[in-house]
Amino acid sequence: MNIILLIISFLFMEFIAWSNHKYVMHGFLWKWHKDHHINDKNSFTVDDLEFSGFEKNDLFFLIYALPAIILLLIGFKYNFYSFIFIGSGITLYGFTYFFVHDIIIHKRIKIRYFMNIRNRYLNALINAHLAHHRPKSSEDFKNFGLLLFPKRFFSE
Ligand SMILES: [Zn+2]
Ligand SMILES: [Zn+2]
Repeated sequence: MNIILLIISFLFMEFIAWSNHKYVMHGFLWKWHKDHHINDKNSFTVDDLEFSGFEKNDLFFLIYALPAIILLLIGFKYNFYSFIFIGSGITLYGFTYFFVHDIIIHKRIKIRYFMNIRNRYLNALINAHLAHHRPKSSEDFKNFGLLLFPKRFFSE
């Protein structure tokens, strides 16, 4: 049961990330997300999409970490196991997002082994995220999620 809670929280976070990216980051908090898109115009390949240093965009990580930390603290203090599993699901999503988005796609930390991991799903995922950074159409730009994306990216 608790593992199911963890999985649901993880999947729910993809929804949160998608909606937050679409409505908040490209909405009223665009000023925090802008620097994540600053290189888009002069990038043509995955390797051109390099980022260095911190971005204001990273503030979103802190905001996401807070509810997870609070849930985990309360969970451990009062033995609320469901809180621990929900908090762990959110944390796991955070690590996954960082790993996939910041290391595999944007190569902010250069760990050659991880930078070169490729499989059908990851290739499609990278295509889908790059479509948001370098949209060929307004449909491309609308790809705000990370782990879930339209099937068409598998064929490109
Ligand atoms: Zn964006
Ligand atoms: Zn990105």
